[in-house]
Amino acid sequence: MNENKSKISPAAKEVLKIIESHQFQAYFVGGCVRDSLLKKDITDIDIATSASPEEIMDIFSAVIPIGLEHGTVLVRHQQESYEITTFRTESTYSNQRHPDKVVFVTDIKEDLARRDFTINAMAMNYRGELVDPFFGQTDLQQRLIRTVRQPEERFQEDALRIIRALRFSSQLGFTIDKAALIEMKRLAPSLEQISVERITQEMEKFFQGDAIQSGLQYLKETKIACFLPILKKSPQLVEQIPEKLTPFQSFGEVIAFFYLLDPTYSIAAWTKAWKCSNKEKNVAKHLVENVERWLQEGRTNWLVYNLEEACFSMFIHLLADVYNNRTLRLQELLYIKEKLPILSRKELCIDGKWLQNHFIEKKSGPWIGQVLQEIEYLVVTGQLNNNLLEIKEWIQCHPPESD
Ligand code: ATP
Ligand code: MG
Repeated sequence: MNENKSKISPAAKEVLKIIESHQFQAYFVGGCVRDSLLKKDITDIDIATSASPEEIMDIFSAVIPIGLEHGTVLVRHQQESYEITTFRTESTYSNQRHPDKVVFVTDIKEDLARRDFTINAMAMNYRGELVDPFFGQTDLQQRLIRTVRQPEERFQEDALRIIRALRFSSQLGFTIDKAALIEMKRLAPSLEQISVERITQEMEKFFQGDAIQSGLQYLKETKIACFLPILKKSPQLVEQIPEKLTPFQSFGEVIAFFYLLDPTYSIAAWTKAWKCSNKEKNVAKHLVENVERWLQEGRTNWLVYNLEEACFSMFIHLLADVYNNRTLRLQELLYIKEKLPILSRKELCIDGKWLQNHFIEKKSGPWIGQVLQEIEYLVVTGQLNNNLLEIKEWIQCHPPESD
């Protein structure tokens, strides 16, 4: 692992170089260092520097002060964004959420000491040299999630770290250090004081982790679900999760999964309790609606027509994980979709206006939607061809009911 084949881009290294050329220190920190050492794709690049936010604003022309109280600015450089934070420590967490005071410091090691896990507490300069005071590299090699300093103190300071340990185990498949695990179990009740938004953000990553099976074992072992929204009311749900789970693609899919396992709480209740976005809520609803359709009618054209293509693989995943049905293939759904006579109601060769003109004596009303829906169904299921002559004929034989 000494060999440094980081995937950090030359443009990002240039940002550090520019800061250094102004006589300040600058390092890559956090996830990008960890992931580059693991030769994994890097999501976002965080930079720590001895320069103050004002000094960074003097150096770069495109800077957005996104969190000055924490010493963070966002720098745009060659079409990329970098979060640059002044070296800082955090002192005394009285509310287990936010540090009471942020203190700027001059030594990168002090900044690294406030970070959660040793694998996240390494810094790297643009030459690829590491600052690793807590032996993060050794822990990466040993595939170990270990807190920087005493776990009891670190989890007490910020209980979100308990969830973060789970999420890194789910993303990396690493073992959680024994002492940390004991404290996670003991301090789990303090999770109730953490904002739902922060928990959801981490749990979303947890459920999408490549090594979710490993994360899931820890979730069960630590009984942390007893302190999570809704799950605390039905902790047996976590026991019902199959061991052979594969990663979820979105949090909407996670909600759909739990709802299908046990419909006691509605999708709306789940998404409200977890403070999900409307987008996730709609994904959950859409998936459940179509899984329920599949339960009733199987893999029909009508099902494939209604199911959005972007949801195909989540749908297949749900059938496998909830119903242990592994017969459906993505290729099959794509093939059916391709052969469908229409992809939306708009493609029918008649529309509401046409119907209104055809039945000029009828007032407009819900009958228009009902007739369209019926024709749409017949066309999609191959009982009627999508051409004007045939549809006209059908309407003649099945005139809309009088009001
Ligand atoms: P990802 O690849 O998912 O972004 P990450 O490790 O970069 O993972 P972030 O949430 O982006 O995670 O946080 C960036 C860094 O900030 C972490 O690597 C860690 O050093 C530090 N950090 C984040 N949250 C905490 C926390 N609650 N307590 C202590 N340090 C934290
Ligand atoms: Mg990050």
